[in-house]
Amino acid sequence: MRARLGDVIDDYCVKCKRIMNHSVVSCLNDEPAKVRCRTCHGDHDYRHEQAPPSKADLRKAALFKEVLDRMGTASPEETPAPVEAPAEAPAETVPPGKTKRVKAPK
Ligand SMILES: [Zn+2]
Repeated sequence: MRARLGDVIDDYCVKCKRIMNHSVVSCLNDEPAKVRCRTCHGDHDYRHEQAPPSKADLRKAALFKEVLDRMGTASPEETPAPVEAPAEAPAETVPPGKTKRVKAPK
């Protein structure tokens, strides 16, 4: 649908904080570029009826990013890997029957 100057369209008004009737005051490529709220008469860019992200959302996003950044810098591999106990070398055992029997001197 082509927008024309003076058309009344719905858009989100930041002053009224809700979707309101707006008049198209500026067009770009047949799209509304700027609109004027018919309630508070405030001009603003056409927002495609999208409310801007709330400050709470922005703060949440910032916090989330901060956490991600922190996780990215702290290397999780600082904890030493468990050292495997070296396998015990088999003790040299004298094979049975070959033990020298020392005769007690008379
Ligand atoms: Zn308004």
